[in-house]
Amino acid sequence: MTTRPSILLKPGEADRIVAGHPWIYRGSILRLSQPVDDGNVVQVKDHRQRLLGTGFYNSRSKIAVRVLDPDRVEIDQSFFESRFRAALALRQRHQPDATSFRVVNAESDFLSGLIVDQYEDVLSLQISALGMDRCKNTIVAALQTVLAPRAILERSDVASRKFEGLEEASGVLAGQLDGPVHIRLNGLQFTVDLVGGHKTGLYLDQQLNYQAVAQFAKGAQVLDCFSFLGGFGLHAARAGAAHVHMLDQSEDAVAASLRNAQANGLAASCTAEAVNVFDWLNAQTRTGPNERLVPKFDLIVLDPPSFTRSRAAVPDALRGYKEIHLRALKLLKPGGVLATFCCSHHVNTALFQDVILAAAFDARKVLRRVATYSQSPDHPIIPSIPETEYLKGFAFELVR
Ligand code: SAH
Repeated sequence: MTTRPSILLKPGEADRIVAGHPWIYRGSILRLSQPVDDGNVVQVKDHRQRLLGTGFYNSRSKIAVRVLDPDRVEIDQSFFESRFRAALALRQRHQPDATSFRVVNAESDFLSGLIVDQYEDVLSLQISALGMDRCKNTIVAALQTVLAPRAILERSDVASRKFEGLEEASGVLAGQLDGPVHIRLNGLQFTVDLVGGHKTGLYLDQQLNYQAVAQFAKGAQVLDCFSFLGGFGLHAARAGAAHVHMLDQSEDAVAASLRNAQANGLAASCTAEAVNVFDWLNAQTRTGPNERLVPKFDLIVLDPPSFTRSRAAVPDALRGYKEIHLRALKLLKPGGVLATFCCSHHVNTALFQDVILAAAFDARKVLRRVATYSQSPDHPIIPSIPETEYLKGFAFELVR
């Protein structure tokens, strides 16, 4: 092996890396042993020259090095193959029946900058780091060896690539793909448009929660807010809900959720509306001077998008979360269940629950917590990499 350039870290900066965190910020670097081209492989050492690992270097990114391995390793096809095999084995252990799942979840699988989703026999990959992008052909070859997919699609059309000096990229990288893909989640069929859709595939991180929340649905009047393709709604309908009403502001998503209901023989109990959830809840909870609001729902699901791209946006996001919880609680029958999720890394579990309790207080409601939720195991949580934990949820029963 030719001698690789070394990146030496300042004193005190090594601990995070030893604990498993792959990011080295520019400010943590003491010096480079020699000039390094962006995207190249480097070895990382502490200030006493002890090896900390191997990673990709990029001077243009705030994350100057993304560590891939604690040892001195070649980043070649067999490296990727062994990482993919390990990631796959993890999914097979924790979600043995899943046929669509996230195969590689970036930092969670010690492959910072790479996400690979499997939709039945089609793979969709997203690359968000320069070093990883340079390995695209090797990654494709390794995926073909390990997973033998019908097609591999790239959906690297993410704005964050510009921070790495990369253009957005998308297209079919291998095999053939025309038309939407029919996938199964917990035995229900969903149709996803991987090439055309404004959104890549669907939210695989809720796969286990769809099933878990559906246990509250038997005989229930259900409201699924931010329903997208109908994940929560359709699982509730299959579990025997009396009726499911789904709300999403996207006309395309609403149409797709109704088609999915049809395809699963659940159309009779499902309706959907293209509306802004805030406006809809507002209208439903507005009362005249002597009017009492009659709660209608036995199960309400709130699964909004992340309202917080940054820490600075947290206060506004919290106001938004409080608002929808306050209104949803007013529409929930006593004994009914509110299943609610937050996918923002910046809002932790305790803060999220505080917001819900503040909304309950304002609505003069008392809640009993009956379940807590997290992201499905194909989005592994590595506690020493706090960014890998983002999805949290609760089910609350309305005591009164
Ligand atoms: N529950 C879904 C995921 C929801 S993602 C699932 O499990 O697949 C967030 C969804 O909220 C998107 O489909 C988006 O179109 C929708 N959305 C975002 N803001 C909205 C708003 N203010 N009102 C209604 N829908 C909204």
